[in-house]
Amino acid sequence: MQGEQSLRMSIVFIISAPSGTGKTTLADRVLEADSGIEFAISVTTRPPRADETDGEDYCFVTEERFGEMRNRGEFLEWAEVFGHHYGTPRSAIKEARERGRDLLLDIDVQGASLLIEQLPEAVKIFILPPSKEMLASRLRSRSSDDGAEIQRRLGEASREVREYESYDYVVVNDEIEPAAERLKAIVRAERSRRQRMEREIRPILEGFGIETDAGMEKSE
Ligand code: ADP
Ligand code: 5GP
Repeated sequence: MQGEQSLRMSIVFIISAPSGTGKTTLADRVLEADSGIEFAISVTTRPPRADETDGEDYCFVTEERFGEMRNRGEFLEWAEVFGHHYGTPRSAIKEARERGRDLLLDIDVQGASLLIEQLPEAVKIFILPPSKEMLASRLRSRSSDDGAEIQRRLGEASREVREYESYDYVVVNDEIEPAAERLKAIVRAERSRRQRMEREIRPILEGFGIETDAGMEKSE
């Protein structure tokens, strides 16, 4: 996969969904199956859940530390979600690019709209639960948040779902396997976009006597 990646710029994939929809579950499937993409580890002031590891799921920090990082401009975007702060470190994108890998960002709808102003070429994917009732049941089955927190997350869901129109793709997470396959297919299809293939196919085109420099990806 690294070879496939090396001739072009990294693609940034943003996935958003109401909390409890299954983004983390689906993102893990993609990351396990595809060594050409990595997860952007966000920084948060939320306390870790029992199954979460610092530096893997999130970098868990205090409010004070988050404020220092924000003031130093270390975040590409940040937002307050359910009373806690979350931010995407600029270094995540830089490091993924250095490694020649694509990047998967799991961020809320506010963060996604801020990020897209800076990275308009990012691919935005919205994950929907099969229904509001299924969302409620998944939030309860995760059993990592208390009743009040679950109600808060459900209350926000309708506002978030309304934003689906600003995304490029929608995946309904009904059954895990087919939904994960769709997500993987989106990643693969985006890699084959003509503009992203220009550099790789240049020698082939030149063999046909075709000079190409139009449509080359811009370096950022
Ligand atoms: P998110 O990251 O969107 O908040 P999670 O990935 O933590 O959501 O999933 C929430 C809960 O729903 C977890 O307990 C997870 O195992 C479960 N879950 C995820 N996808 C499905 C699915 N397609 N069918 C049934 N349960 C699911
Ligand atoms: P959770 O607490 O369930 O892990 O995440 C709550 C919400 O915060 C989810 O909608 C998730 O997508 C969002 N989130 C996680 N990391 C970031 C981030 O770096 N920036 C923004 N804006 N949202 C994030």
